Amino acid sequence: MTLSVRSKPYIIPEYSLTGDLLAFLTCGLQYRYQNKGTLPPSMPIQLWFGEFIHGVLEEAYLQWRDHNLKEFPWDWEKEIRPIEMLIDKRMRARGLNPPSNLFCPYNEEGHKQGFCMDLNHPHKLVASQRAEAAINTWGPHLFPLITSAEVRLKGIRDMPHYQEGFSRSNYYGITGIVDVISSVNLEVHSSSNLLVKFLEEDPLFKEKVQALDSKEYEIIMDYKGMKRAPLSSSTWDYHKWQILTYAWLRSRQEESSPVVKGILFYINELVPFTKDMQDIKEDVVGENTDIIPQGNDLKKILKWKTNNPPPRLSEEFKTRRSLRLVDVKPDSVHRSLGEFDQVVDEIENCLLKEIKGKGIQNSWEARPEARTCDACDFRTFCNNPDPLSQKPTVP
Ligand code: SF4
Ligand SMILES: [Zn+2]
Repeated sequence: MTLSVRSKPYIIPEYSLTGDLLAFLTCGLQYRYQNKGTLPPSMPIQLWFGEFIHGVLEEAYLQWRDHNLKEFPWDWEKEIRPIEMLIDKRMRARGLNPPSNLFCPYNEEGHKQGFCMDLNHPHKLVASQRAEAAINTWGPHLFPLITSAEVRLKGIRDMPHYQEGFSRSNYYGITGIVDVISSVNLEVHSSSNLLVKFLEEDPLFKEKVQALDSKEYEIIMDYKGMKRAPLSSSTWDYHKWQILTYAWLRSRQEESSPVVKGILFYINELVPFTKDMQDIKEDVVGENTDIIPQGNDLKKILKWKTNNPPPRLSEEFKTRRSLRLVDVKPDSVHRSLGEFDQVVDEIENCLLKEIKGKGIQNSWEARPEARTCDACDFRTFCNNPDPLSQKPTVP
């Protein structure tokens, strides 16, 4: 009797744009340690807030939909705080504890002080102020337009430069989660809706919708727990890239309609704190932003000094800065997929180098940059951290 030999398992490597590609582009070596090592990464503050605000907005939408909470503004203590506590609990269950200067974790007065300033819990710290502003600024306009939330997308592409016996697989998978898919019908929604108003002001959007065969079309939306990215930054390009990639993935799903636009929400713009204000001022002075302050807003920003509290800017300016429209065109979608392939190719090459025994630090390129290295768990054994990053201190 001959025994059949079991063939090698057929694997298709999967890549997500945010979890893999962007992390790899930030620093290849850090990505390798974080993803392929066994150490769970500690969470930089920005990542914690990103997860938190996604969770809060998603849950707020569900409550709005299912419990008829249609009146805005919502009261922070009565309506928003319970949502925050729920999301905090879920995140803790995954080992993600809130940074104590960002979020008060206690609900009752008199609970031990912890890291809070007094015993009058709950405190509306930065994360809560932003959650409240996001819900009350965008909730009334955004929630009625949502057709689905948290939509998982998956697609398959040919492995770039596939070589038999050398490449890991002839295909690779792309995955992603869209925060919101919306089908805005301009004929149905009135222009007292702020999102509709911004879309109506956009000539590219109108032109595109008029050229469609059917009245059905979609908009992809994504929340970002950060300030608006500067025009010349790679983050600005990556966010566009993300929308275009998701648009392609969405177009492969049967029930989809053409995606005509992407909308990004930069949540920190609604409540900017010192670091955000510093960056906003820098963008304004360096003409590195598309939403430029006028009149009083401009004066206040230029006059502001870092050791003063951030100035009170107009609601209109903050709202505008928190919203970004991204045009979805076939040729730019095509280009972004080409770039996706290219980065996957780079990651696969690093992996193959490591498999061949070149050692981790020789296989994965470190991209030292002070801000990334400061928050990097692997700084102590990295051969090449940014010299300006802070030396690790003993707590
Ligand atoms: S210390 Fe800096 S260069 Fe080294 S792995 Fe971390 S982020 Fe990359
Ligand atoms: Zn507190």
